[in-house]
Formats: sequence, structure tokens, C-alpha cells
Amino acid sequence: MAARIGALEAGGTKMVLAVGSEDGSIEEQVSMPTVEPDRVVPEMADWFREKGVDAIGIGAFGPTGVNPKSPDYGHILFTPKLAWQGYDFLGKMREGCDVPMGYDTDVNVACLGEATFGCARGLDSVVYITIGTGIGAGVMIGGELVHGMLHPEAGHILLNVSPDDPGKSVCPSHNRCFEGLAAGPSIEARWGAKAVDLQGRDDVWELESDYIAQALENYVVCYSPQKIILGGGVMHQEQLFPLIREKFARYLNNYLRTPELEDLDSYIVPNSLDEKQGILGCIELGRRALAAS
Ligand SMILES: [Zn+2]
Repeated sequence: MAARIGALEAGGTKMVLAVGSEDGSIEEQVSMPTVEPDRVVPEMADWFREKGVDAIGIGAFGPTGVNPKSPDYGHILFTPKLAWQGYDFLGKMREGCDVPMGYDTDVNVACLGEATFGCARGLDSVVYITIGTGIGAGVMIGGELVHGMLHPEAGHILLNVSPDDPGKSVCPSHNRCFEGLAAGPSIEARWGAKAVDLQGRDDVWELESDYIAQALENYVVCYSPQKIILGGGVMHQEQLFPLIREKFARYLNNYLRTPELEDLDSYIVPNSLDEKQGILGCIELGRRALAAS
């Protein structure tokens, strides 16, 4: 019988739970608000136990411990959501549902979803960036999701502020980081409206695409991905893509020459899985945990 894999996409505002198979088919999906962990975590563990899953893959909001050898593995670390700070998320899930579990960041699992089931299938080095209420990047190199000291927080790379920028960074830690300059709240603070209501404003997207292109140039020279995927609410503004590609090429300035870079329309692309990249990445993470058990 095919294994039943549980998938948990743990976001800062909502939890998405699903049961599916390793081929990426989803049988059932529900969501719950991200209330205090003592309430929602046992409820989620019960849900998975009742579904009879064989393994679970969890993609968690961060920063969070992703190194299995570290004492903080599976813990949520510093977060403004105080009830979650230091919380042993993975340990409490295991208490309620004792099956093999894979655990990674929400952006890493989205990257894994695209690399397993989506537009990056068959590639082993991929960067997935989400631009929404925050900015995060999931990074796969050589088929493995990148961790390290903690995990990449590539939404906080420092960028050059455009002289045309009428606003400023909204990141409490950095006055010129990517997230502070280009995430949804920054757009709203700068222009007084949400991205979705600024569609026809060329100056908004010129500036936004400049920041995104700067970030992509940095990721390409550091991580050397075979494809870059852009998701998140801000990237629903499809007019951004040609602007990003054009500015990215200008910033890279022919420094690298590869077949991928010859075809930027296929290299810098929107997410391909109809917003299911995160939950499908969790399925693959759970499949890997089961295979390793
Ligand atoms: Zn920052």
C-alpha cells in the first residue's frame, strides 16, 4: 500500500495541514489559525494521528533550528510571536504523533516542492524567493537544502538604496535590506497603498524590480542556481518579471556566460504549482524522512 504522508506548512498566521502520497497527490487539506502553540500544536498532532499518516514533513516559519545535531533542532527561535519563542515545535508534534518527521524552513520546503514537482524538476541547484509580508529565500544546492550555522536568511541581504526611492526600509534591524525595502509592508509604507492597488503605477514597479534584480544578482553569484523562482503575494504583479530580467542582466553585466543566462525568460520564473509549492515540498520532506527511517 502506498505510504500516507502528512504535510504541515506552519506559517506565522495560518497552519496548512494535508495528507497525500509521495507522487504529490493531495487527498485532504485543512487550515487552522496560528494561535498559541499549546493550543494548536496538540490539535494538529491529533489530526495527523487520526489520519494514520506514516510520516510528516514540516515547513516552519523561522528563524528555527534545522540542524538535527543541535539542541535547538525543531525549536522556533527568536520571533515577535512570544508564545512561540523557543518553543519545541518538532518535539511536541512527536509527542502527539510518533512517526518519522522531516523539518525545515517554510521557504526551503517551497524550494523543495518546485524542485520535486514543479518548474525546477530535474535540477539540483535552485533558489526560491518569496516576496510577500516578508522576504525569504529557500536554497537547494546539489540536491540538498542549505542549512549551515542556522539557515540562510537571504531576505536580509543589504542592497543599494535607489536615489529615486521616496521611502525607507521598514526592517527594524536594517536600513537597507531587501525585505525592508521591497516586501509588501515596505511598498505600502512608501506609496500609501497595497501592491495590488498600485498596478498601473510604473514608478512603483521600476523601483521594486530594481531591488529584486539587485538581490537576484547577489544570489546568482553566490549560490550559482540553475533556476530562480519567485513567489509570494507581491509577485502576483506579473509586470515585474520583464523588468526584473532586464535589470538583472544589467547588474550582472555579462560577468557570467552560461546557457541558462542566455534565456532569462526560462531562468527567472514565477512559481509553478498554483501556490501548492510549500505543501508539496512538505510531502517530499516527509517522504524523505520515511525513506531514511
Ligand atoms: Zn532586514
